[in-house]
Amino acid sequence: MSVRILIVGGGAGGLPLATRLGKRLGKKGLADITMVDSGSVHVWKPRFHEVATGAIDSDLDAVDYRAHARLNHYSFELGTLTAVDRAEKRITLAPILSSSGDTVLPERSLDYDILVLSIGSHGNDFGTPGVREHCLFLDSREQADRFHERFLNTCMAANYSSAVIEIAIVGAGATGVELAAEIHHAVDMLKLYGHQHLDRSKLRVHLIEASPRILPPLNESIAKAAHTQLEAMGVIVHTGTMVKEATAEGFVTSEGEVIAAELLVWAAGIKAPEILTTLGLETNRVNQLVVSQELRTTDPYIFAFGDCCACPDGHGKNVPPRAQSAQQMAITLARNLEHLIGMKPLQPFVYRDRGSLVSLSSFTSVGNLMGNLRGSNFFVEGWLARMMYISLYRLHQAALYGWPRTLMLLLAGRFNRLVRPRMKLH
Ligand SMILES: Cc1cc2nc3c(=O)[nH]c(=O)nc-3n(C[C@H](O)[C@H](O)[C@H](O)COP(=O)(O)OP(=O)(O)OC[C@H]3O[C@@H](n4cnc5c(N)ncnc54)[C@H](O)[C@@H]3O)c2cc1C
Repeated sequence: MSVRILIVGGGAGGLPLATRLGKRLGKKGLADITMVDSGSVHVWKPRFHEVATGAIDSDLDAVDYRAHARLNHYSFELGTLTAVDRAEKRITLAPILSSSGDTVLPERSLDYDILVLSIGSHGNDFGTPGVREHCLFLDSREQADRFHERFLNTCMAANYSSAVIEIAIVGAGATGVELAAEIHHAVDMLKLYGHQHLDRSKLRVHLIEASPRILPPLNESIAKAAHTQLEAMGVIVHTGTMVKEATAEGFVTSEGEVIAAELLVWAAGIKAPEILTTLGLETNRVNQLVVSQELRTTDPYIFAFGDCCACPDGHGKNVPPRAQSAQQMAITLARNLEHLIGMKPLQPFVYRDRGSLVSLSSFTSVGNLMGNLRGSNFFVEGWLARMMYISLYRLHQAALYGWPRTLMLLLAGRFNRLVRPRMKLH
């Protein structure tokens, strides 16, 4: 019987891993690869702010797991992981319910020889009162769709009244910054598509950050350039501002100031899913599974990677929770799982920071690129940065489809732009 490799989580890391293993091991019958996800389709998470504002139609950009599995020699199971029996090497999946709450499939279990966990992360509210009740998050496609619906309704109401659209975003990391810019672009677009009385003078976007500057993990030059661009668009940036509560009216700061808004978004910090703390494996304070340099947890048959793991970067910190980290880890892990089957020694994961790019919608992009020379770092801005930002998504597509199909998708996208509206309007 071939080795059963079970991957739970088909996101930025899990899906490229299943694709690679399917092609290299599944196709030759060297392993039986199964990927599980709680959704039926994959939308690349770094694009969720674009789904939220309608800049992209997630239906058009989604990868259907079943169709993708068939083409890439792995199996797909729809389901949400609820438990791992490490002694029996078996996982449990929650029952699947219909939209009306009827049971479609009862609780199921799947056996494994090697388990890989890549179930990502979600927003960390740090226990701030009112956040769960009043804020929108951008952790899943469903949440991004919910923002989209509420945003469109708010814009429609503002078009027929003198109301101002007030949106407050907590967290000026890449997600918050990109969302703030994308909202401005969406309002420009909506005006183009029939909301004649809507324009940026009716829009008030607050971006709130506890650190002294926006984009705290990135270079100061990137933060400065992004800050200038955001203010030029009209975004009200509050740095050094700690939020102590969210209410139905807005955010309350530690100084007692109320930042009033109709739409509240929480985009500050990440936390891995709670389930990881129930497996009897070592986790850190944000629920990430602590892994060795080989991406192995404290159980030799369980690997973890991407946002849900804490992996040392070799410089005293952990590898940052980013799509580029998950992609790089998927390549190392695929190689290591092949080595494991071939009884060869595992290779350590070495994180290479390729730089960071922040998209300010179609207005511009800013970022830095890391050169091959140690420490070399180039600031990029404008058209070049925008092209590089877009190429990150194309690289992800190429990992899933190969370059010929990616180029066909690129062409299909160009044709779509000729016949479809430039944003999702419903
Ligand atoms: C709006 C936004 C913008 C971002 N922009 C960037 C960027 O520009 N550059 C960058 O490098 N990073 C960016 N990131 C971060 C990046 O998206 C993540 O670091 C990356 O997606 C992590 O990959 P992953 O595979 O670990 O998890 P994910 O891509 O989140 O995938 C996790 C998968 O696991 C599934 N899952 C979760 N729980 C379960 C369960 N219990 N059972 C079964 N399946 C489960 C989910 O459905 C999902 O498909 C952004 C994030 C957000 C939210």
